[in-house]
Amino acid sequence: MLDAGHALGSRTAMRRADLLEPCKRFWIEEPLHPEDIRGYGRLPQSMSQPLAAGEGASSVAQVERLIDEGGVDIVQMT
Ligand SMILES: [Mg+2]
Repeated sequence: MLDAGHALGSRTAMRRADLLEPCKRFWIEEPLHPEDIRGYGRLPQSMSQPLAAGEGASSVAQVERLIDEGGVDIVQMT
């Protein structure tokens, strides 16, 4: 698993995912800012590994947005 800690932009996240593809990660976690739902929505289509996010989510509505608009595969609501 790779936790990017919100540190990447969507283009950088996609490039890093491609570079690290041979490592066969289980998931890439929170590469983008938590409010960049549009950015999350673009990532899964270009990444072969599951996308995890949602550590800061505090409501069902936020989780639904991550899944429906962001295409997040694994929600890590705390
Ligand atoms: Mg984390």
